[in-house]
Amino acid sequence: MGDDAPLVKAVDMAKKYGDFIALHPLNVEVHSGEFFGVFGPNGAGKSTFIKLLTGQLKPSKGQIEVLGINATKSPQKVKANIGIVPESESPPSYLTPVEFLQFVAKLRDLDDSDNEVEYWLDWFGLEEKRNTMCKDLSKGQRQKVMLASAFIHKPKLLFLDEPFANLDPIYQRKCREWLLEHVKNGGTIFLCSHVLEMAERMCNRMAIINDGKVLAAGTVRGLKQNSEETLEDVFIRLVGKSIEDVEKLFEQEVSEEE
Ligand code: ADP
Repeated sequence: MGDDAPLVKAVDMAKKYGDFIALHPLNVEVHSGEFFGVFGPNGAGKSTFIKLLTGQLKPSKGQIEVLGINATKSPQKVKANIGIVPESESPPSYLTPVEFLQFVAKLRDLDDSDNEVEYWLDWFGLEEKRNTMCKDLSKGQRQKVMLASAFIHKPKLLFLDEPFANLDPIYQRKCREWLLEHVKNGGTIFLCSHVLEMAERMCNRMAIINDGKVLAAGTVRGLKQNSEETLEDVFIRLVGKSIEDVEKLFEQEVSEEE
């Protein structure tokens, strides 16, 4: 892979579940050092997008290369070389945070694994729960364990699906700052979320999707027609819905998550 080759490249990538088109054919490229976000309401196709790129789902058509690896032919190799925080996945129920993080540290072949595990337990305020089985943790604590398992090996390329849904504002901010620092230090991030505010605070480039279609893509500033326009205005303009409809869409998601 050349130095300027994209870390993520999908050409004509599409996904159908049966007859239902969850993602219409699209192209995407993400380059080293970018913080790329995909935004859209519930059911827009965000998780499908991320699962295709990370080799968790096979596309119905198209080519996908991640770190120069064909994600359709070698999904395991892709997974071994990236970090992923999936939306709905929890750490294994019958492992404790310490056991799970030690397992990940071994799998990722970390040098100083014991110290790394202690560092991330402390960072996420999980020391008291270190020996509690993950099935007995709160949603937010389980999400912290998943985030710790991704942060611990500082992956060159990190995929995050709705990463902050269960975190309180203090940890949202802490994680946001860590991710921005990670990108500053050469990391690359692909994130999807329905929280448009995250685009403003974190992303260099973003795509807005709805009903499996990319409505627009570009820099956050570039998507706005003028400095007055908010991203919510951009979304409303692109989706062609009234503000009430869009508010309902986003509210519905919040109540579904509670
Ligand atoms: P988002 O992450 O934006 O909420 P998803 O990618 O999860 O959206 O889903 C996109 C669409 O595909 C939704 O309409 C959803 O119901 C549908 N879908 C997702 N997974 C499946 C599946 N395994 N089988 C059938 N339909 C699915």
